Amino acid sequence: MQPKRIGFLLLLLAGSLLHPLNAAWISMDEAIMGTKISVQIWHSDDTVGQAAINAVMDEFHRLDRKLSPYIESSELSLLNNTAAYKPVPISDEFYQLLKISMDYSELTNGAFDITFASIGHQYDYREGIKPSEKRIDQSLSLIQYKHIQLIPEKQAVFFRRPGVRIDLGGIAKGYAVDRGIKLLQQRGVKHALISAGGDSRLLGDHMGRPWHIGIQAPRDRTSMAAVLPLADSAVSTSGDYERYFERDGMRYHHIISPKTGRSADTLQSVTIIGPNATRTDALSTSIFILGASAGMELINRLNDVEAVIIDRQGYMSTSDGLADLATQQSSKASNKHE
Ligand code: ADP
Ligand code: MG
Repeated sequence: MQPKRIGFLLLLLAGSLLHPLNAAWISMDEAIMGTKISVQIWHSDDTVGQAAINAVMDEFHRLDRKLSPYIESSELSLLNNTAAYKPVPISDEFYQLLKISMDYSELTNGAFDITFASIGHQYDYREGIKPSEKRIDQSLSLIQYKHIQLIPEKQAVFFRRPGVRIDLGGIAKGYAVDRGIKLLQQRGVKHALISAGGDSRLLGDHMGRPWHIGIQAPRDRTSMAAVLPLADSAVSTSGDYERYFERDGMRYHHIISPKTGRSADTLQSVTIIGPNATRTDALSTSIFILGASAGMELINRLNDVEAVIIDRQGYMSTSDGLADLATQQSSKASNKHE
């Protein structure tokens, strides 16, 4: 081969090492955990990138099999069926998740409470089925996270009252998103988005500019209430418009206030921006229940999270640090271009 030709090839090789020629966005959607899971990554090798995405989807399936209340053989179902009779030893991962959930109960003054399911499991939002008012009042005292006894020496769980049930629907998707991001990081991925319904996390930026994450207008499917430019963060939205039915002028939806045993009714949506999706997922559900005033107060007290709240009339309010966050993101992006 002529030296000139070799030089050209070397140049091409060096160039492709710096900027892989065939690097591209690869994306995939799948229905898991009762929602649409989307994974989008930037990768230089289509086959390797696709394998990374498959690993993320496998992880979602694994967690669904473990944590779903609809799967009879899940660890969670096993706990619900037996923990009121005897302590049940559970896996390390499940135990940690229960501990995290109960920490959020403490942090949110009981708004986040996985025993909401003691009443929550009697609803079927698709079929428009709800428990009677009398039944709700009778089972209200079952909603209390302190009924869950964690036994660290045995890594076991006991329910102090018969009839108590738990459901991790307010935190499991966020946790799965975080697990997925970790898997991608281990495989060297630098730019990615994983979203599971209302819970998303961004790894890196969108190649020199921020990702744009929309906040759905709660009463108009076709429009966005706002768009957030973000990188390297998690975003979760909890709303009253995803899973609900209406009867006699009442909107019955899936976020249950532990105090009343009924759907929380002061807001239309809450979006939380924070460092990881486990946190933003748990907090978006919690703030939806706490309402605008107590909710915003909590968010402003925590220094790693921001909130966008849309109230019952459709008016929007934002936490104190949100404007700073937007400025930080855009200066990060413009530094990259310099
Ligand atoms: P999505 O499932 O749409 O992501 P959210 O993150 O807003 O929803 O959480 C709503 C889910 O949280 C409900 O479907 C239910 O499984 C669970 N949940 C409802 N009320 C509570 C509560 N008080 N504490 C903890 N989890 C709850
Ligand atoms: Mg949530």
